[in-house]
Amino acid sequence: METIKGIAVSPGIAIGTAVRLAESDGHIAFRTVDPDEVPAEIRRVDEAFAASARELKDLRTRTAARAGEAAAAIFDFHMGLLADRTLVQPIHDDIARERVAAEYAVSENFRKLADRLRATGSEMFVQKAADVVDLENRVLARLTGGAIGKISRASGPVVVIGHELTPSQAADLHRAHAVAFATDAGGLTGHTSILARALGMPAVVGCMHVSTDVEDGDQVIVDGDAGVVIVRPAPAVVERYRAAAAQGEQRRRALRNVAKEPSVTLDGVTIELLGNIEFPEEIEAVFTNGGSGTGLYRTEFLHLTSPTTPTEEDHFDAYRRALELSRGAPLVIRTLDLGADKFTQDHLADPERNPFLGLRSIRYCLRHPQLFKTQLRAILRASALGPIKVMFPLVSSVMELRQTHMIINDLREELEDDGIPFDPALATGIMVETPAAALMTRVFANEVSFVSIGTNDLIQYTLAVDRGNEQVASLYSAANPAVLTLVKNVVRAARHAGIGASLCGEVAGNPLFTPLLIGFGLRSLSMSPVQIPVVKRVVRAIDIERCETLARKVGSFDSDRQVLSYLRDELRRIDPEALVSAGAD
Ligand code: PEP
Ligand code: MG
Repeated sequence: METIKGIAVSPGIAIGTAVRLAESDGHIAFRTVDPDEVPAEIRRVDEAFAASARELKDLRTRTAARAGEAAAAIFDFHMGLLADRTLVQPIHDDIARERVAAEYAVSENFRKLADRLRATGSEMFVQKAADVVDLENRVLARLTGGAIGKISRASGPVVVIGHELTPSQAADLHRAHAVAFATDAGGLTGHTSILARALGMPAVVGCMHVSTDVEDGDQVIVDGDAGVVIVRPAPAVVERYRAAAAQGEQRRRALRNVAKEPSVTLDGVTIELLGNIEFPEEIEAVFTNGGSGTGLYRTEFLHLTSPTTPTEEDHFDAYRRALELSRGAPLVIRTLDLGADKFTQDHLADPERNPFLGLRSIRYCLRHPQLFKTQLRAILRASALGPIKVMFPLVSSVMELRQTHMIINDLREELEDDGIPFDPALATGIMVETPAAALMTRVFANEVSFVSIGTNDLIQYTLAVDRGNEQVASLYSAANPAVLTLVKNVVRAARHAGIGASLCGEVAGNPLFTPLLIGFGLRSLSMSPVQIPVVKRVVRAIDIERCETLARKVGSFDSDRQVLSYLRDELRRIDPEALVSAGAD
């Protein structure tokens, strides 16, 4: 049994047999065939090429009708390539001489071509390399019968495992009755995630190695609530998940009703419930779950899902789209939080020994000013179109903030000179994710208009516990009194200074903590959209006085165990149903 952690993008639990998507991701295994199978293998290649050509012709005609001739022309390169003897001949030769299987010969030769194109260094050829990979996937899908074929032949529920998935693949898989999917890539596009939610397919993305760790036919559990994929689970685990799936479905039905209600306590105080998103398209999910805007837009996903460095226009398009989808609701954009776990160290010439304490987040951006300026200029331009706020991750010194403000001021002048509109009053804020920022909130408050507490990181830096290290996972606790003291003090300092305070770590979406955070004085919480309904349920069942009493009591405890057990008892009294949705902490 193996548990793989990823990003939960579509809720629900599904259990099924794995079908791996044929992908051009380096996973076509080397396989040879018997000499008498060679002619049949060559025929398979020709048939796959011919079928792909027919498919492309059809796609071209339909695209021309829908989106015009210019859009349809992108398929001409694919069709031309398929017809080119210099591509198919070496594939035939490899099968005949080396007796390799058709899939392997196809994959090898397409890869060589893509590498040659990339090696030219020319922007145009690098883009063509992506077309080659795309075409390779199409031919491979034909050769293997594709996932669709395998799914239709499967007797029970099927979970699709792949490197990445396009929205149209997700739709096709759903039509073929796949029950869930899990992918290596971190989200590919928001559209695929949105589609998965719309189709009600549990999904976990950003699993890094799931496509190599899972074999066709493995039993797999996709937990779209926790963002976890369990491969070859023990029978007892399957039983537990079956029960959880049934209960979860029942709960989700009941919670859907509360999404439409206002987020107001029994004594009439509004608690702002916002969503954390990685892609603009997720904003729809914030609203359908009953959120009133976006409290954390993790823009680094723009970087992580794009093969090339996003341009200012790429940033601007994403922010404009986010504003359109927000329809006037708040939108807090966090600048690039690259580094540490969000940036593979592998390809760095000199990997950091301690990446979580290294060049990440705002430090990374300040070290790469062009990258930072590109993003900040796009944010400023977008600020002319709607209500945006911008915040900076992992600030630990006021000098970082001042440097950033200086860059923004320079960009403002630049835009003014160029006659490009922006909001001169664009609000800036910091994420409080380091003990340094938490202890000095009072000082930071002189220079920003809001703070947002990022408990995910604040816990790890306060307790010196790597948030991704299983060995010390039991020490990683939001209920640790040191963490809670910092949170309480940040809220108090922000209130004294008269600036806004929100909390956007995972704990914001845990109903166990809702009364406590409100008792600390927080009136704004930002969380994974699917958590909004359950938190709203708790908000509607409590009053401020009760929360403040509870917070005072928690302040007298000296261990996380005591805190948790008290919070559980309280939530059991407030709303036993919500307790079921509460995590460990
Ligand atoms: C946090 O650290 O609490 C946070 C919200 O940021 P991220 O999870 O993206 O590090
Ligand atoms: Mg963080």
